[in-house]
Amino acid sequence: MGGKILVTGGAGYIGSHTAQLLVDAGNEVVVLDNLSNGDRALIPDGAAFVEGDVGDRALLAEILSPDFDAVLHFAGYLVVPDSVADPLSYYRNNTLNSHGLIETAVNAGVKHFIFSSTAATYGDAGTEPVTEDTPPNPASPYGRSKLITEWMLRDTAAAHDLTYVALRYFNVAGADPTGRRGQVSKNATHLIKLAVEVLTGQRDHMTIFGDDYNTPDGTGVRDYIHVVDLADAHVRALDYLRRGGDSQVLNCGYGKGSSVKQVIAALERVSNQKVNALTGPRRPGDVAEVVAEASRIRGLLGWQPRYDDLELIVKTALDWERKRIGQG
Ligand code: UDP
Repeated sequence: MGGKILVTGGAGYIGSHTAQLLVDAGNEVVVLDNLSNGDRALIPDGAAFVEGDVGDRALLAEILSPDFDAVLHFAGYLVVPDSVADPLSYYRNNTLNSHGLIETAVNAGVKHFIFSSTAATYGDAGTEPVTEDTPPNPASPYGRSKLITEWMLRDTAAAHDLTYVALRYFNVAGADPTGRRGQVSKNATHLIKLAVEVLTGQRDHMTIFGDDYNTPDGTGVRDYIHVVDLADAHVRALDYLRRGGDSQVLNCGYGKGSSVKQVIAALERVSNQKVNALTGPRRPGDVAEVVAEASRIRGLLGWQPRYDDLELIVKTALDWERKRIGQG
C-alpha cells in the first residue's frame, strides 16, 4: 500500500466512483471538491472531505503533506459547447488549475499523478478507431484545455521525479450497479442521461442529432464505457505507477461503437417503454464516429472490463435516475 491519495472532483460522477474503489482497496483518500457540479452524498464513506477549489493553491499546499504519494485529478469543466462560448473559463479551470495542482504536487514530493483526459483531444479523426498514436487535433477549447494539461504532465515528468497516466475517456455512462451513485449533473447534454430523463418523465422528448451521417444507420457512433470499468482503470493505473511503471497516455474505451439509435433501442428493451425521440439536425461540432483502439490499456494495466454491455450500461443509468428522483 502506498501513501495518501488526493482525489480532486471526488464528489463528481467519475471521481466518486473511483474514490469508492480506492477506499474499498484500503487506501487513505482525501476528496477535494467545490461541489459546483458534484454532490456531497456521492463521496464514499471512509474518505476525508475538504470542501474547496482546486484553484486555491494555498489550500492545495496545506493538504499535500509528505505522506501523499498520488493525486487523481478529476475536477474540471466538461461541456464542449460551453467551452466554445466561454473558452477562458475552460482554460482557467482545466488548464491553469491543473498547472497549479501539478506544481504543488511536485513541490510536495508527490510521486504519481492520474489525469482525466478525453477523446476530445483527437477531434475528428475519421471512421477508423483512434490509437494513442493518432495525432491529437482537438476541435474545441475543451479538448485543447485537456491536451495542454497532458503536455504539462509530459514535460514535468521528464524534468522531475513524477510519473503520470493520462486516461483519455471515451463516452462514459452508467452507474454503480449497487445503486450507491450515478450521474447528478443538472443541465445534462449527454445522450444516455437525456434519454433516461425522457423515460422517467422529466422531459417530454429528446432529439436525435442527425440521421444523415455516413454510419450504418445514419446516426452518430460512439464508444460507450461503463463508469465502474473506467473507475477500475484509474485504480489499476495507480497500481501500475506504484509498481514503477513509466508514464503513459491511454485510451479508455471498449473499442466498440454504438449508434444513437442503438442506444435508444437498448433503453427501450430494458425498460419496456418507448423513448419519445424526434429526429433533428446535426449538432454543431459533432463528428460521425469516435471509437477507441483500446488494446494498450488492457495489455499494460491488465484492465478487463466487466460491464462491456450496452444494455447493462443503460439499465444501470436508468435504475440510478429512477432512484435519484424517487421512482425506484
Ligand atoms: N446525441 C443525440 N441527442 C442528444 C444528445 C446526444 O443524438 O440529445 C448524440 C450526439 O450527436 C452523439 C452521441 O449522441 O452522436 C453522443 O453524444 P454525447 O453528447 O452523449 O457525447 P459526445 O460524444 O458529444 O461527447
